[in-house]
Amino acid sequence: MGFPVTYYCPHCGAVVELERGGYLADKSVTPYPLEGWAYADPAEAFEDSDGVHFVCGESDAPGLTWTEAVSDADDVENPESDAPCGREFYLSFVKYEHGREVEAVPESDYVVIGGDGPPSPRGPDAGPRGPDGF
Ligand SMILES: [Zn+2]
Repeated sequence: MGFPVTYYCPHCGAVVELERGGYLADKSVTPYPLEGWAYADPAEAFEDSDGVHFVCGESDAPGLTWTEAVSDADDVENPESDAPCGREFYLSFVKYEHGREVEAVPESDYVVIGGDGPPSPRGPDAGPRGPDGF
């Protein structure tokens, strides 16, 4: 069926090998889900989904192998930490809508309204901005 492709955890660098359909194009591996992408677990029919949700070092799904290798890529968040780390990360496939590639919303553009996101750097009394004209 598929062929094996390796990815690494963006948190700790643990390398995972996943067997998947060759027609799928990988967009990115990120520590957070992309806005608008639907993820499946490796044990599910993820090839019908927009991406795969990994828990680092977990899952013994067929086609999934946690190798002993650890990537030393520059974008690994905590290269000194134990690998695998047990944290979540997301493989996103390239997605098309009306024949055009769908672009993901960069994480920095996220606006958390009423959520429990990180505190505003401007302090607690900055408050949410109301819509203009109100
Ligand atoms: Zn990890």
